[in-house]
Amino acid sequence: MTPDTSAATIRVLPEHVLNQIAAGEVVERPASVVKELVENALDAGARELTVELEEGGVKLVRVSDDGSGMGPEDLALAFVAHATSKLAEVADLAHIGTLGFRGEALASIGSVARARIVSRRSADEHGWSVEDRGGTVGEVTAAAAPRGTTLEVRDLFFNVPARRAFLKRTATELGRCLDVLQRLALAQVGTGFVVTHDGGRVFDVERDMDLVARVRRLFGVELAAALVPVAAEQGGIRLQGLLAPPRFSRSDSARQMWFLNGRPLKDRVLTRCLQEAYRGFDDARRQPVAFLSLAMPPELVDVNVHPTKSEVRFREERRLFPFLLGALRAAVARTDMATPGGKLLVPFPRLPDAGARSAWPSARAGDRPRAAELEVREAAPPALAVPVPLPLPLPASARAPVLQVAATYLVRALPDGLEIVDQHALHERVTYERLKAGLRAGAIAVQRELVPELIELARSEVLVLAEHLTALEKLGIDLAVFGPTTVAVHGLPVLLKRRAGAALVRELVATLEGGERLPDPGALLDHVVHSMACRRSVMAGDELAPEEIEALLEAAARLDHDQTCPHGRPTRVRLTLADLERAFHRR
Ligand code: ADP
Ligand code: MG
Repeated sequence: MTPDTSAATIRVLPEHVLNQIAAGEVVERPASVVKELVENALDAGARELTVELEEGGVKLVRVSDDGSGMGPEDLALAFVAHATSKLAEVADLAHIGTLGFRGEALASIGSVARARIVSRRSADEHGWSVEDRGGTVGEVTAAAAPRGTTLEVRDLFFNVPARRAFLKRTATELGRCLDVLQRLALAQVGTGFVVTHDGGRVFDVERDMDLVARVRRLFGVELAAALVPVAAEQGGIRLQGLLAPPRFSRSDSARQMWFLNGRPLKDRVLTRCLQEAYRGFDDARRQPVAFLSLAMPPELVDVNVHPTKSEVRFREERRLFPFLLGALRAAVARTDMATPGGKLLVPFPRLPDAGARSAWPSARAGDRPRAAELEVREAAPPALAVPVPLPLPLPASARAPVLQVAATYLVRALPDGLEIVDQHALHERVTYERLKAGLRAGAIAVQRELVPELIELARSEVLVLAEHLTALEKLGIDLAVFGPTTVAVHGLPVLLKRRAGAALVRELVATLEGGERLPDPGALLDHVVHSMACRRSVMAGDELAPEEIEALLEAAARLDHDQTCPHGRPTRVRLTLADLERAFHRR
């Protein structure tokens, strides 16, 4: 074909392409759909909202409201880009009172999903309905409907596979939807919310519940009971809400919520302000728990900074900051900080590797079959004799006396305070490192059995194991399928001891079944060594002789890392002199 040189190469993009591009900004994942639909319902004056989700919102987001509803003329425009009932001129931008105003959400959503609106105004005889299937908008047709609007969004990104591929697991997407919904439910006191997922109730708040009642419903009694109210006003700006005592602070900001004129927002200035208010009461890296709402005349804030409107710009930041800080700090000081000791016991932050291992099923004792539980007891050595090497003698002056408390914790003085060690957690770390070093150092010594131990399992479990026999053999775990519900243990690493056989195999099955993908041999080995370390370590409740305590602390001191047990639990809690001085009001 000869190129048509007369035709322009610059083109105005067709509408549906523009919408899909805009969708990239507004619609990132199901949670963005939830946010836009709920905001529209609230803008329409909804008092009762139902949000139904399926498969984390990917398959379905349906929001039903009892708001104003739309007539056929509105419906004809609802999926058209930049069609909005909320803004007519640029001048209106200066005093936006609604949550939406850009008129791009529905057009964007409709271009990347199968969307349908059914709506009826209260004065109308019947309702109307319209569909947008991936950018193809249908006719407006008459439909039976209750007063209000139901907006249904199915199969998000069905026509944009590249974006669909970026969606996470159902649980992750659901979590994000719920985060959005919780924030909106707390921002909109006066509106009732019912939220379901795959047909089951996830949470609900009744219309007449106040903020404390909502926090109690969503996050529990303990937190709700500890909250302290804040209320302050200055120059037309009103701050209102609830603050938690510092001990509730978290490593994430999931329980820190700011609302501006009913709009949830994440703003760095506000976050910093709150952190500043807790300074000195709290570890600076942690995020205070608070639910705070700001009300101010719309002209004092620019919400048109970003399409999702979660960021804003304050007009008078310099005056705002000191006002907020003063009010918040006074409230923080009113929280109950007298919890004995607890407030001082800031545990060591979890190491990143603890999270990375979450694909493994956690070995909760209750999950194990009875036999395995007995096994654990028997396999635990009476004392430290096996795994911990003999202590190097320390000069007497360097040895501080150690106190064993409740046969579980070891307390000792440090040059700048004191520390409390969890003996089991620490010993687990020591044993784990030893086992690993042993495995790394050489061939895995396998103890072969003349008469294999037979273990009964479920049919499905045998199938799972069968897939991994070769990988397991490389680790010295020599199994064979013996029957549809039986496996034979022909050999185990000497380190793992024969007694642990049944428990070990059961745990392996659980690991292989629970993991998302095939664990690589290294990870599998790691897991086996973990559970071994646990079994062969002193337990909470074991009385230790002074030499054993010393041996444990000595061995731990020689490790590169002894701050957490192999599962990521901290091994020790430290109280510095500064903590103590603060506790006794010496400074
Ligand atoms: P925006 O909210 O920015 O105006 P949207 O694309 O989200 O833009 O919505 C377009 C228009 O559709 C809104 O301005 C409103 O008039 C109408 N609309 C959307 N959802 C609802 C609803 N639940 N109830 C009544 N009207 C609605
Ligand atoms: Mg909107």
